[in-house]
Amino acid sequence: MSKIQKIRGFQDIYGENAKKYRHVVDTFREIFELYNFKEIILPYVEDISLFKRSVGEATDIVQKEMYVFVDKGGREVALRPEGTASCVRAYIEEKMYAEGGYHKLFYEGAMFRYERPQAGRYRQFHQIGAEIFGVSSVLADAELISMVDKALKTLNINFKLEINSLGDFQSRKIYTEKLIKYLKSYENHLCETCQKRIDLNPLRVLDCKVESCKEITKDAPKITEFLSEQSEKRYLQLKEYLKALNVEFVENPRLVRGLDYYTDTVFEFTTDEIGAQGTVAAGGRYDNLVEQLGGPPTPALGFAAGIERLILLVKDLPKEKPLVAVVPLTSDYNIQALNLSNSLRNNNIKSETMLKEGSLKSMLKTADKLKSDYVIFVSDKYELKEMSSGQQEIFYNPDDLIDAIKGKI
Ligand code: ATP
Ligand code: MG
Repeated sequence: MSKIQKIRGFQDIYGENAKKYRHVVDTFREIFELYNFKEIILPYVEDISLFKRSVGEATDIVQKEMYVFVDKGGREVALRPEGTASCVRAYIEEKMYAEGGYHKLFYEGAMFRYERPQAGRYRQFHQIGAEIFGVSSVLADAELISMVDKALKTLNINFKLEINSLGDFQSRKIYTEKLIKYLKSYENHLCETCQKRIDLNPLRVLDCKVESCKEITKDAPKITEFLSEQSEKRYLQLKEYLKALNVEFVENPRLVRGLDYYTDTVFEFTTDEIGAQGTVAAGGRYDNLVEQLGGPPTPALGFAAGIERLILLVKDLPKEKPLVAVVPLTSDYNIQALNLSNSLRNNNIKSETMLKEGSLKSMLKTADKLKSDYVIFVSDKYELKEMSSGQQEIFYNPDDLIDAIKGKI
């Protein structure tokens, strides 16, 4: 029979990688909790116009990367390519703004983009991210960035933080005109994609990875030279706050991000340890997006981290509980073994009932394959064997046995 394979760009995450996945997610979740973020569990499928109107018609995501289909009811829908748009939709649709105060949300899960698969770039990938709605103060920008910084430090990852300000819409408009003029004078030397970007999405040219484009944009006008007074003040304040929080950063005036909705603060956490796809987390402020999607004017900001890329960087995992295998000497002792495993688990001890019946020798071999730290042979008594030392002890009462194991682990 021919084998069925997974779809290109999709992955099975299992074994050690699944542990790393969980470790990354748990670490972020614990930190979100400390910062008082609340979870939101969002749909994977949304009306396609949500992404057109937020991520932007001219972006790579909307132009060519979305998984789009018509459902049986004739709705044009998309598998979500990112999480912010859905968060904003929910914020508006669930009228969270009506509760007053401000809102801090986090989400986690799969995203879908029809990109060219390569190391660190998949068609289904996972993000963990957070958003703050209803705060314009730069305090929020500083806390959000330092929260991501803390999470990555907790994960023991080497990274660099780059920040920039894109200014408000007004500063950006003036800058964009200058940039277009500059790019037009080098048009023939830009890559084909960037030639199209000049009119469609000129800022994106600054983000191009093609060498010749990088060379040209090196001397392009810098956005930070065109910031309005207020945007400039915000940017200075952000840097001051980050320094106060001991968050190390470098300014990168070419940092623009690939999505349309950003204003003022943008940032990227990058690493050079996983090849070309080095951005592990990124985000920024998007003060116009809520209104743009039909909500009340609401300043907002957020970030998303790419879990697959973090998995590539995580080296140490939290220590696991030791494993105790329970092996009935003969099938006459199966029920006794089932019960003992249960008691062990009730005492918070990780236990594996030997499910593969066979000779004592083969069961011991299986216990070893399962990486058991201890094996208990069950008969009219209990023989506890420590696998590392080979040391054995005999017990006649399960309570004494469990107490002894508790003492060891
Ligand atoms: P990149 O420049 O790496 O394509 P992006 O600007 O498209 O990133 P965002 O949309 O901001 O990225 O997503 C945030 C994070 O999600 C990225 O920094 C990255 O870690 C991760 N990510 C984005 N696209 C993919 C993908 N196709 N496969 C794996 N991870 C991804
Ligand atoms: Mg991308």
